[in-house]
Amino acid sequence: MEGTLKSTAVEVLQGNKEVVALTDCYVMQTYARYPIALVRGEGCRLWDADGKVYLDFVAGLAVCNLGHCHPRVVEAIRAQAGRLLHVSNLYHIPSQSLLARKIVELSFGDRVFFCNSGAEANEGAIKLARRYERFVRKGDRFEILTMWNSFHGRTLGALSATGQEKLQKGFEPLVPGFRYVPFNDPEALEKAVDGRTCAILMEPIQGEGGVVLPSESYLRFVRKLCDERGLLLLFDEVQVGMGRTGTLFAYEQYGVEPDVMTLAKGLAGGVPIGALVTTQEAAKGFVPGTHAATFGGNPLATAAGLAALDAILEEGILENCRQAGAYLRKGLDEVAGRHPDLIQEVRGRGLILGLELKVSGAPFVKACMESGLLINCTAERVLRFLPPLVVKREEIDEMLSILERVLSEGADNNRGMP
Ligand code: PLP
Repeated sequence: MEGTLKSTAVEVLQGNKEVVALTDCYVMQTYARYPIALVRGEGCRLWDADGKVYLDFVAGLAVCNLGHCHPRVVEAIRAQAGRLLHVSNLYHIPSQSLLARKIVELSFGDRVFFCNSGAEANEGAIKLARRYERFVRKGDRFEILTMWNSFHGRTLGALSATGQEKLQKGFEPLVPGFRYVPFNDPEALEKAVDGRTCAILMEPIQGEGGVVLPSESYLRFVRKLCDERGLLLLFDEVQVGMGRTGTLFAYEQYGVEPDVMTLAKGLAGGVPIGALVTTQEAAKGFVPGTHAATFGGNPLATAAGLAALDAILEEGILENCRQAGAYLRKGLDEVAGRHPDLIQEVRGRGLILGLELKVSGAPFVKACMESGLLINCTAERVLRFLPPLVVKREEIDEMLSILERVLSEGADNNRGMP
């Protein structure tokens, strides 16, 4: 670069347009991105490369539960980065041991395996279920039942577990050994269990599937079925874990404990991490040499995880999530009451809330973004609200007023949007 080497992308690139052009030119085209580049964040606010500020109700897709650049997480990362970034799991890693102990103390679990993402955590859960059957139960069952409309990640095993044909198209042959049943349908699940079934994998609340909640009794039914038939129950809490529903883990709200739980997203406040949490019994499925991840539980990620978990526990984050969640829910119900032509239903728990529209959600997401509000749409018609769990009432009021305006304009301008 002719002697003018600049140290960060933000210094080199001027504005949204330049970043967008570069992405379009060099980055693999796997995402349909909005034409802004986000360069700075604080709490529930983000700034783009042109200096425009946004209120963030996406939170990096349920990652930034503590808001952007939470000081404790930033400080922990800085301190750890100056001491030791990475060592192999050939050796012991203090922050990994401490984070595992903390997760165990706070959950049903006895053992933790660390990896780097939600999909990778689910791969671990799938492998563990198969190997537990083979080597601990000494059986030959291999099939894992999962739910239609579920989402477990994009790696081939996790994608094969995901009950959405549109995401699987073109990647066949899928990994064998998965069968899908309708979510929240006890009879269909009971009927599907047969002599090949070794486990059930499910999200306690479906996130990508459109914020779909089970009935109060469904998870208890699934637990009982697993106990009766000797199946492992695997909960994917990648999206709804780490405080998102108002308790640290979503399973707590249903009074049902799994044998295995996967975590990722919010676990380290924005640093990539994944975890597999298991009972002592299920952990017998793995022995040294059977599963591994080079970066899994490395010093940087687990130091960030410790700081994030401490912040969640010590700063009233769960209480705020419950209160702010109830306030947001009430506001969304009122919005829905004013737009019965446009809105089908409001649903969710804590701060994972969905507004199901009768039309496509994409134009509304775009209009909100232009008005300085980031929200997301999933399952085509469900506007999803996933703010940082530190969100304040004033920020919720601001969000609701932008949303109200955008919905009113949408209803006026474009009746019958696609
Ligand atoms: N499981 C659930 C429930 C998710 O919501 C996601 C991501 O949205 C994943 C797994 C995949 O996580 P990752 O993108 O970190 O692989």
